[in-house]
Amino acid sequence: MSERKMVHKITHVTVRDVRFPTSLEQHGSDAMHTDPDYSTAYVVVHTDSGLQGFGFTFTLGKGTEIVVCAVRALAGLVVGKSLQEIVSDFRGFYRLLSSDGQMRWLGPEKGVIHLATAAVLNAVWDLWARAEGKPLWKLLVDMDPKQIVSCVDFRYITDALTEEEALDILVKAQEGKQQREDQMLKEGYPAYTTSCAWIGYSDEQLKQLCTDALKSGWTKFKVKVGADLEDDTRRCRLIRQMIGPDKTLMIDANQRWDVSEAIGWVSSLAEFKPLWIEEPTCPDDILGHAAISKALAPLGIGVATGEQCQNRVMFKQFLQASALQFVQIDSCRLGSVNENLAVLLMAHKFKVPVCPHAGGVGLCELVQHLILFDYICVSGSLSNRMCEYVDHLHEHFTSPVVIHDAHYMPPKDPGYSCEMLESSVKKHQYPEGDVWKQHKNN
Ligand SMILES: [Mg+2]
Repeated sequence: MSERKMVHKITHVTVRDVRFPTSLEQHGSDAMHTDPDYSTAYVVVHTDSGLQGFGFTFTLGKGTEIVVCAVRALAGLVVGKSLQEIVSDFRGFYRLLSSDGQMRWLGPEKGVIHLATAAVLNAVWDLWARAEGKPLWKLLVDMDPKQIVSCVDFRYITDALTEEEALDILVKAQEGKQQREDQMLKEGYPAYTTSCAWIGYSDEQLKQLCTDALKSGWTKFKVKVGADLEDDTRRCRLIRQMIGPDKTLMIDANQRWDVSEAIGWVSSLAEFKPLWIEEPTCPDDILGHAAISKALAPLGIGVATGEQCQNRVMFKQFLQASALQFVQIDSCRLGSVNENLAVLLMAHKFKVPVCPHAGGVGLCELVQHLILFDYICVSGSLSNRMCEYVDHLHEHFTSPVVIHDAHYMPPKDPGYSCEMLESSVKKHQYPEGDVWKQHKNN
């Protein structure tokens, strides 16, 4: 790591409330979030060298102003630090933000304060990758295993994964690393699409989108369920008929059911052979997920969750309790790359595949870096693994994702792909941007 390039002292942090009126066309609608306006608390970390780091967390519209306030509260801990200082003890810096003696009362490591922590840390990781002139996945791939481990806070997870075990996983995975990197650069990372079957879409819309997706080479499809069993049955039948018996179908209830209701409902949809049921119940209910997992195992249906899993400690318990069969990390819910590294390593130890949550605004841009790292440096496997893809709002980013034949192609630009076009930010800033002036009723 070049010392010369890494001075970059942080002079100030700016944060803006940026919202996209996606609810107007029901994009992103599911059984619990019927009218999301995909939004971000968008952070820029400014340095004395002129280099900037961009980051954000994802929200659904109203309340983004609360996350913005939380980012402002955290900014005081960041200003004055140099990038070099931060990355030479990234675990310490993570802990500084997540364990501030007064602010941790707001979490700890959950809710609004943790979303804000993610936004700030995402910007710092972006800054680091830019300073090194590498896309974030490559920065991680080129790191020494010891340095990777030094970014992770193992507090509260050593009963499941020690630092030594984590190091051992990373050292073992050095074998074949170069081939896997070459393979990713050539083929990309497999993806599935959620864009065909939002709950607010009509059957005609669903059919058209599914036809288009099949033509573009998609082989794995997710359907939103949970509002009405008759509707779900009809929609799942429709999609299964269109994609045929060999392609993959997943269903996602976005936390709609109680435990026994989930088991009953999903059992009635078992004839459509879903690979997983995603977020069947409350995201905090670890034992509930374990009960659902156990009941659905004989039907060959796994449980997937994680997009609203608060932190590494909860992921630890989900894994310990065999409460999920697919780990869905999220780049903006957990404490940025640092905490996601902990979850990737724990998932590997527990032999559970990671299939990241993406979509929203910018989540695909970010999480692709993490899953590339997972394949190249941790899991070394593509079995039962794929990354979510949603075809919305990519045009607002300076380095949008590149999908080729239903695969994420590794990003090439330096950074964490977090930067948005300034024109988009201005236009969508809430409430003063032009887009919001037109929709005053929101
Ligand atoms: Mg979901």
